[in-house]
Amino acid sequence: CGIVGYAGDRECVEVLLDSLSKLEYRGYDSAGIAVFEKGKIVVEKTQGKLSNLRDKLNEREKIDGHCGIGHTRWATHGEPSDINSHPHGSKRVSIVHNGIIENYKEIKKFLISKGYTFVSETDTETVAKLIDYHYNGDPVDAIIKTLADVRGAYALGIIFKDYPETIYAVRKDSPLIIGTGDGENFIASDVPAILKYTNKYYLLEENEIATIKSDRVEFCDTHKQSIVKEVLTSEFDL
Ligand code: GLU
Repeated sequence: CGIVGYAGDRECVEVLLDSLSKLEYRGYDSAGIAVFEKGKIVVEKTQGKLSNLRDKLNEREKIDGHCGIGHTRWATHGEPSDINSHPHGSKRVSIVHNGIIENYKEIKKFLISKGYTFVSETDTETVAKLIDYHYNGDPVDAIIKTLADVRGAYALGIIFKDYPETIYAVRKDSPLIIGTGDGENFIASDVPAILKYTNKYYLLEENEIATIKSDRVEFCDTHKQSIVKEVLTSEFDL
């Protein structure tokens, strides 16, 4: 029940695990990450605690990446399992999601009719594949088209294989903030997840699409008009 994301110079996996640990209080049954490594998206996920994910990561070759997304899951659709854990996606897209997609059955049916196959029982996988379906080389276009099709509550962190070192984020009725530091930027469900790194953040509103890279954060609306947003400062003390 938490989302994090990082773009910057630090070792991404460490930042994602550290930020996810700050969201543990929200409760979860599974955890996972997707990280860019040499132009590819590497995904690791598992049922259980963050320590299980850490063990899994320790068993494999170290992921050498500086941008990625992470998730702790509170299962709503599909039992807690490795396969139902986030991130979900296709060859081109990987997403993490908090919330519930109400019309996922319709979307799934539509996508199956278009030749898509599904590996999990989650509502989230339908959104991931819908983004893939709408993707025509422009991530923001694909996201705008997808948002027009989905009903429900969501905070989404999205990465595209063709756009390395970039995270896209949107939300509706689920929390998500964009943290901004010096040469590094973040997404998180809640400010405490990023306070170790920065106390500056943006609030993301419904129908705003954030594009996050290490050196900049940009916002636009669902007509691709850019939006200028105010940077807030957290008064929280660690
Ligand atoms: N509905 C999604 C699932 O069951 C997301 C749950 C969450 O918010 O963690 O996988």
